[in-house]
Amino acid sequence: KSAGKNQIATFDPALREARMEHARLTTGLRQAIAQNELTLNYQPVVSLGNGEITAVEALLRWTPEGGKPVRPDVFIPIAEETGLIVPIGLWVLEQACADARRWHEEYGISVTVNVSGRQLRDESFSDAVLGVLERHRLPEQALVLEITESMLLATTPAETQRIISVLALLREHGVRIALDDFGTGYSSLAYLRTLPVDVLKIDRSFTTALTEADHHQTHAFTKAIVELAGSLNLRTVVEGVESGEQAGILQRMGCPLAQGYLFSPPVPAHRIDDLLHLTPWQDAA
Ligand code: C2E
Ligand code: MG
Ligand code: MG
Ligand code: MG
Repeated sequence: KSAGKNQIATFDPALREARMEHARLTTGLRQAIAQNELTLNYQPVVSLGNGEITAVEALLRWTPEGGKPVRPDVFIPIAEETGLIVPIGLWVLEQACADARRWHEEYGISVTVNVSGRQLRDESFSDAVLGVLERHRLPEQALVLEITESMLLATTPAETQRIISVLALLREHGVRIALDDFGTGYSSLAYLRTLPVDVLKIDRSFTTALTEADHHQTHAFTKAIVELAGSLNLRTVVEGVESGEQAGILQRMGCPLAQGYLFSPPVPAHRIDDLLHLTPWQDAA
């Protein structure tokens, strides 16, 4: 059946081109680490109260040699499919912890790193994380791992249990866990009960809808999430804040932390050094 499908697709030029592009990217991605084509950008997480940077999120960038940058939305899924996310994810952790050490030492800032389900299913993941922290002499409390509920959808119940125990183990060591893109899945609340998490990141779609014409429902939902998180002792970060109006609404709801272009886009490490010496952003509300 699938062979038949493939045969038909071969005659569709657009699909054929898409598949060749996919193959090119897969080949390229295999060499990306060795060729030094990967870099990290960092996006500040700021306090809505005083504009201070409390954390930075590491966001992976890939520019193939002689080519244009490829978007993470395009290459991360390929890295996951091929398993390349395991070595690439380790590279990200290593680099993020190396960069974060001085930020943590001088400003108490933590670093957050996105991880895929594929990485968490790897037997050696927790040892690898603890090893990286030790090598860079970064305390466990300085690292936050971001997971999504969607990554659990692809796993069997047994795998989900394994992932939960890996996360719980890391958490016992002091590493914190953030639930990313919260509110976009079908069972967000159920995951909140089963997953060992410390930080809730409210998805950008909520922020965007807050200042759109029909915002009453979004407003009620967002407020309820912020309050629920507060009563569960979770830190709440709202994603994708682009305007002062959005920042003001969220601050009045009691949301403590935010991320978004209003404060800073993701920037290279040296720009974080610069930002840390700047006066904090002060126009909230
Ligand atoms: P994410 O973890 O939810 O990261 C937030 C995304 O929103 C980033 O896109 C960021 O650049 C973007 N963003 C931040 N503020 C704003 C804003 O105000 N407005 C808008 N429109 N966008 C904003 P980016 O860097 O393209 O990353 C996309 C996704 O790729 C990430 O979503 C994450 O799921 C994944 N990703 C990135 N780096 C890694 C990594 O090292 N490992 C893994 N496994 N996934 C990664
Ligand atoms: Mg994230
Ligand atoms: Mg997110
Ligand atoms: Mg997102």
